[in-house]
Amino acid sequence: MLFRLFIFVLMQAVLGLLGWFWLGWAGALLGVLAASISLLVIDSLRGHRFIRWAREPDLSAPPALRGLWGEAAYRVARSLRREQQRVRESAQRLEDFLTAIQASPNGVVLLDPDGRIEWCNDIAGRHFGIDPRRDLLQHIGNLVREPAFTAYYAGRNYEREVRLIGRASTRGHPVKLSVQLYPYGHGHKLLLSRDITALAQADAMRRDFVANVSHEIRTPLTVLAGFVETMQTLPLTEAERANYLNLMAGQAARMQTLVNDLLTLSRLEGSPLPSTSDSVDLAALLAQCEAEASGLSNLLHPADQRPQRLRFGAPPDFALAGVASELRSAFSNVINNAVRYTPGGGSIEVSCERLPDGRASVTVSDSGPGIAPEHLPRLSERFYRVDRSRSRESGGTGLGLAITKHVVQRHGGELQVSSQLGKGTRFALVFPAHRVRPLPVAERAAVA
Ligand code: ADP
Repeated sequence: MLFRLFIFVLMQAVLGLLGWFWLGWAGALLGVLAASISLLVIDSLRGHRFIRWAREPDLSAPPALRGLWGEAAYRVARSLRREQQRVRESAQRLEDFLTAIQASPNGVVLLDPDGRIEWCNDIAGRHFGIDPRRDLLQHIGNLVREPAFTAYYAGRNYEREVRLIGRASTRGHPVKLSVQLYPYGHGHKLLLSRDITALAQADAMRRDFVANVSHEIRTPLTVLAGFVETMQTLPLTEAERANYLNLMAGQAARMQTLVNDLLTLSRLEGSPLPSTSDSVDLAALLAQCEAEASGLSNLLHPADQRPQRLRFGAPPDFALAGVASELRSAFSNVINNAVRYTPGGGSIEVSCERLPDGRASVTVSDSGPGIAPEHLPRLSERFYRVDRSRSRESGGTGLGLAITKHVVQRHGGELQVSSQLGKGTRFALVFPAHRVRPLPVAERAAVA
């Protein structure tokens, strides 16, 4: 500033002196005036260039000006550059924020104070059948037309959620949504949607399970209570009392089996996955199953009637890594089922083999009544029975295959079933190669 003032005064002094030499006092006045006017013109030209640039500032080419206007141009360019940087950073932050919401497993819709869509993520698009680009600024009420939502939106009480049917629902696969509005800012609203189909299914399954367990326990309990009442109120002979006690013991045993199966299931659900370091001696395990199965077979089909043929193949030349008690319960469930459902005179075969791909399979085949194809996919559901009375008569709980499937899956394997009505059924428990272990040398020699 001082420098500019100095130049101004210097030019006036020089031109004033020149004028004074040339024309005397009038010349000096003219010289001073000419110096002032030329400085004014130069300044106006610079100012004009600055204003022309400032109208649409191009930060890559700021005007090369000297003096005050140059300083002003430099400062304006610098603050514009800072502003641009700030805008870029906030745009990036907004972009990151929207990408994060986009990645959310829930649907998110931002609504303006009039209920129009400002932004929504793809999940919300799928939940409500909205196009996240085309439907921007559409009123949410025009797009989500379910009466439950309309009433919820109009009610203005958003403290609770509302449950809706998702747009992706089909007849066989209903999609259930939990939707809630959260007001924010000045009249804006956040609409969150969550797919609760699996949760609702689990809830329904839990309710069914409790109802089934209650029903299964109530039946023998009612029978037991009836017998107790009879014994308390009626004068009975010794033979009758013995008979009733026998029947009561049967009902108590049925409840005990059911409770044991329930406990097994809950233990399976709550315990860690079987380790791969403990080898299970399959031969010993299957020998126990064989003894149990032939005891059951003799009980159900005494030798004087038509006995069953029970054949266990050669002991396996491999061991399995897993939990012995779990594997035993899985094998005995399938083997005992074959015994229970195959009529007298029928045959049951149990064998173990290594499959060409390295997996191992324990197979139980019977010549029983077989199972119709429509039942096969549901066999391992809890309490699912093809023939209810047959299952109960032979002491079934409806949980055996559920336990078996659980055990096999915990060991990384799969339960395969194939059956032909009237011809028989084949269950295969297939275990992955990484659980198959060679037998120790001494045991291999014994098998050979
Ligand atoms: P349950 O205790 O009733 O036997 P499971 O879960 O073990 O329950 O078996 C489910 C249903 O599968 C049984 O009720 C029965 O109808 C059918 N089932 C199982 N194994 C056989 C088999 N070997 N032959 C025919 N039906 C079978």
